[in-house]
Amino acid sequence: METENVIIIGSGPAGYTAAIYAARAEMKPLLFEGQSLGGQPGGQLMLTTEVENFPGFPEGMMGPEMMQQFKKQAERFGTRIIPEDVTEVDFAVQPFKVKAGDKEFHAKSIIVCTGAQAMWLGIPGEGDYQGHGVSACATCDGFFFRDKEIVVIGGGDSAMEEANFLTKFAKKVTVMHRREGLRASKIMQERAMKNPKIEFLWNTEVREVLGDGQKMTGLKIYNNQTNDVSEFPAEGLFIAIGHKPNTNIFNGWLELDAKGYIVVKSDSTQTSVEGVFAGGDVIDHKYRQAITAAGTGCMAALDAERWLADQE
Ligand code: NAP
Repeated sequence: METENVIIIGSGPAGYTAAIYAARAEMKPLLFEGQSLGGQPGGQLMLTTEVENFPGFPEGMMGPEMMQQFKKQAERFGTRIIPEDVTEVDFAVQPFKVKAGDKEFHAKSIIVCTGAQAMWLGIPGEGDYQGHGVSACATCDGFFFRDKEIVVIGGGDSAMEEANFLTKFAKKVTVMHRREGLRASKIMQERAMKNPKIEFLWNTEVREVLGDGQKMTGLKIYNNQTNDVSEFPAEGLFIAIGHKPNTNIFNGWLELDAKGYIVVKSDSTQTSVEGVFAGGDVIDHKYRQAITAAGTGCMAALDAERWLADQE
């Protein structure tokens, strides 16, 4: 079996950028496109609308279109792409082993760019009404909520972005936040506050998603200042409370932090295993931007290239 120079796991901004750099450095990268987001490679940008803050695109660009461009650029320089989820890795000895489908692949170095995914509340009814009112992706499902009253949970940039976007369709959007004060950036807060279709409900926690067995009809909510429990009628619930890293398959192989993010050496993308590098949201719970993911994806490819050169 052929041993690859480098296998890149993941196909968001970090993975494709790592591939562009590795391919241009003649490392002949093999990249695995994650299929978990409904069979769509491209990571979380596939679930966004307009990306307005990626430099070089003054008019903005739709997230999915941007990922198509990243992919095309990676392929232009010879990246080979396999549309499969990696299900198992073995980093014990060289060459490293990666399993996808029923095949095993070997590589001298690995770049992990598996990103992060939306978190759920874990309350009764949430799972029952997923796809029937409950969603974590406004751009995927917002269209179905024309003229409806919907709720967004969270106080960060994601919640503000989802709320603003949903006002294109909804009659009214209520942002429920568990405390009084948003975590979102000033500009996103102001945009939401100025939007006449958005209302805020503070100090509010959702306890249960209510429904008629077919679709969601409301929420059981709790005010943590007054201890009041009440019912709030709503036909949609969008959850925007943050993300968790996609690192299950690396547990036991790479050092992870308390939240499950891959630990890398400072000023580097080197993980706890020599020859395994990581970039993008899977190492970053702080910045989590397309541009920072692309940046650390680039760093991972440069680190892998230098590490391979040192081995020879
Ligand atoms: P975040 O900043 O971590 O915010 C998560 C929000 O959800 C917080 O307000 C948090 O409340 C709340 N929350 C967490 N767990 C909860 C629970 N179990 N029940 C109820 N509420 C809960 O996450 P994010 O909004 O996804 O943003 C992540 C990063 O991506 C940030 O750096 C952000 O700037 C960036 N981002 C940027 C843009 C943009 O620039 N356009 C868009 C989206 C995201 P507390 O505040 O009380 O902790």
